[in-house]
Amino acid sequence: MSIYIDKNKCIGCGKCAEICPGNLLQIKNRRAEIRDVRDCWGCTACVKICPKNAIYYQLSADLGGAGSKLSVKNSQTNLTWIVNKSNGEIISINIDKTQSNKY
Ligand code: SF4
Ligand code: SF4
Repeated sequence: MSIYIDKNKCIGCGKCAEICPGNLLQIKNRRAEIRDVRDCWGCTACVKICPKNAIYYQLSADLGGAGSKLSVKNSQTNLTWIVNKSNGEIISINIDKTQSNKY
């Protein structure tokens, strides 16, 4: 499991590189890239902070089916986790940030 960066959506802001606890991301030619996907442990910090929804987390077969992708829409009040399943199904999980300590 690892992340995937959609270079067509990336604007090179560098927020993902700043937040990655493993210093795995870098900006090259004004686009983010991961140094080595095998080092990513899937904390999803970069997925959550990306303002362009350009980073997906790729789910394994036991977590939604091989080829499924997890992305996040992050607004001021809500965090919406979106699973795009390989069979076309889309699952959304909406978290109210003001109530997040209840989960
Ligand atoms: S946070 Fe998103 S838009 Fe910014 S550099 Fe990283 S992938 Fe690109
Ligand atoms: S998921 Fe976590 S460890 Fe992996 S690249 Fe993103 S911030 Fe770094």
